[in-house]
Amino acid sequence: MEIETKAIHSGFAQEDKFGATSFPIYGSAAFAYNTAEDLSEVFEGKKFGYVYSRISNPTVTAFEHRMNALEEGIGAIAGASGMSAIATVIFTLTEYGDEIISSESLFGGTYLFFKEILNKYGVKVHYVNINDISNWEKLINNKIKLIFLESISNPKLEIPDLKAISKIAHEHNIPVVIDNTVSTPYLWRAKYFGADIIVHSTTKYISGNGTTIGGILIDTGNYDWKKSIVGKIKEMSSKAGNFAFLATARSKIYQNLGFAPSPFSAFLNLIGIETLPLRMEKHCENSLKLAEFLRSNKNVVEVNYPGLKENQYHKIGKEQFNNKFSGLLTFSLQSKDDCFKLINNLKLAKNLANIGDTRTLVIHPDSTIYLNCSQEEKKSAGVNDKMIRVSVGLENINDLIEDFKQALEKI
Ligand SMILES: *Cc1c(COP(=O)(O)O)cnc(C)c1O
Repeated sequence: MEIETKAIHSGFAQEDKFGATSFPIYGSAAFAYNTAEDLSEVFEGKKFGYVYSRISNPTVTAFEHRMNALEEGIGAIAGASGMSAIATVIFTLTEYGDEIISSESLFGGTYLFFKEILNKYGVKVHYVNINDISNWEKLINNKIKLIFLESISNPKLEIPDLKAISKIAHEHNIPVVIDNTVSTPYLWRAKYFGADIIVHSTTKYISGNGTTIGGILIDTGNYDWKKSIVGKIKEMSSKAGNFAFLATARSKIYQNLGFAPSPFSAFLNLIGIETLPLRMEKHCENSLKLAEFLRSNKNVVEVNYPGLKENQYHKIGKEQFNNKFSGLLTFSLQSKDDCFKLINNLKLAKNLANIGDTRTLVIHPDSTIYLNCSQEEKKSAGVNDKMIRVSVGLENINDLIEDFKQALEKI
């Protein structure tokens, strides 16, 4: 099946007994069994069954199956947020004393998780520039347990050459983790470019309407966990074979940290995914048109959108994402004052800290998301006080351009 069909039809293990077309919300904390023997067999793993919704829940499973179908993986685990999915992956692959390599161009929350938690729990993070592959290779040693990258980094909008990077990583048997939030499985099946684990904040394009916080991780099946460099996964592989990563993640990390999403959130994600292909087409189309408009406006100093031909990442983005560049762009004005004025004069675009909504969203990252970061940290993230980030929505493009035009005239 093609992705548009999978987005609508995958994830249902069996027909609903009442003929419901959307998956029911199983609002149950735990699941009852007729006999003590039955429940014991489920605990022993002899029989499949749901026990407790912190571990798994039927509505959450349906969402996991659907996302896994879209990413063409071997299995998925849905979490309460994108951060919970990222934390599950990192805690599964590392232990005290380990190290990881990460792109320096990261989503703020991921950076803070690395800085405030990982570093303090004994996992060291090396930050590198994605364009400088020779620098990466030098850092590789036997403590490095993973490489972490964003498909299109938020908000710097850098695009890594995943084939080149994963080739080096795999020569050293190191798994590559891709945060595919911004490009989504509609633009990119990162599996075929060497991604071993994919994570998403489903808060964004997957749920699509800005309705719920959620996250998910997917094992693409690329990595042979029987040869894992992580003790607990290698041990698990004798029981779970190539599902060793997923089994370790769920039973040793996710359920113990309490990362499960509510079934209602999984339901909203399931509904959201159904229109993902249609929405992404429109997000991409509107973004290119808005970027072109902004580029032609005399008050705009610079526009950063990988869909623009002159953009540094246009070529690699074109190859990897089938000539589509998602819905995020940034642009800069003469001053912070101008940025504030522009935001205050926009009528359609909402000023808030989110992306991937049906609505167009704007934010001044420097004074909000990156408020407590040092100048150096802002620089790595590609943030300065003259810059505005736009998550381009699904409104009619003429209305959107009109809105930005009238606001730009006021500065
Ligand atoms: C939003 C976001 C996250 C974090 O997801 P939450 O759902 O907010 O926890 C991670 N990575 C990227 C690229 C994001 O945009």
